Amino acid sequence: MASAPRPLVAGNWKMNGLKASRAELGKIIEGAKANPVACDLMICPPATLLESFATVALGSPVAIGAQDCHAEPVGAFTGDISAEMLRDAGASAVIVGHSERRATHRESDADVKAKASAAARAGLMAILCIGETREEREAGATLARIERQLDGSLPDTLDAQKLVIAYEPVWAIGTGLTPTVKDVAEVHAFIRKRLLKGNERTGGAVRILYGGSVKPANARELMGVADVNGALVGGASLKAEDFLGIAAAYR
Ligand code: PEP
Repeated sequence: MASAPRPLVAGNWKMNGLKASRAELGKIIEGAKANPVACDLMICPPATLLESFATVALGSPVAIGAQDCHAEPVGAFTGDISAEMLRDAGASAVIVGHSERRATHRESDADVKAKASAAARAGLMAILCIGETREEREAGATLARIERQLDGSLPDTLDAQKLVIAYEPVWAIGTGLTPTVKDVAEVHAFIRKRLLKGNERTGGAVRILYGGSVKPANARELMGVADVNGALVGGASLKAEDFLGIAAAYR
């Protein structure tokens, strides 16, 4: 059996951060250098900070990612940013299909698939988010929802260098609530099985992150679950101490 992929701990800063936040990124980089962890690290700042963060992080253990992209490479799409532009600004990855965008921008699985494919086209790694709502969990419809999202949004060709899945239960994001370890294990095993279907060579190498209220206090337990290959972290990634405290699960 192939060995588990190298984990990734990625921070999604959402719409937070000004130029002064470079100091916090600096603390993350210094902390990662002083106390190395056995996982990849990434910070996804707002688009306005991508270029300066990429400059600060160059040659450091911290990669820089973006939070969304348009599916087209160029064109008349006012206010949007293409995957090629993100790469040009220094990003090496982009989050696609975050539940906040699915909800507030009405993004469909087909939209998310087009964005994940655009990321690969531009040489970026897509962090593709999926997850059930509270109503779906309570109705016992979690796995059906996950299956629909995977069927509708996975790119046609799986490339473990260009794709990461983030399982983020919508009800766990920013709420302080987390699923039980058993529930996380069930969903991650289900995702792994689906990735392996027809992709025996690459399906095992695609990282599956857990996201939703990950904190230093619960990271070790969550990261210890089978087929959890890291975390996508929102609120706790804004403070170097907390972000590094989560990554320390891999020390
Ligand atoms: C997220 O928004 O991707 C997320 C996981 O947020 P939080 O860690 O704050 O729950």
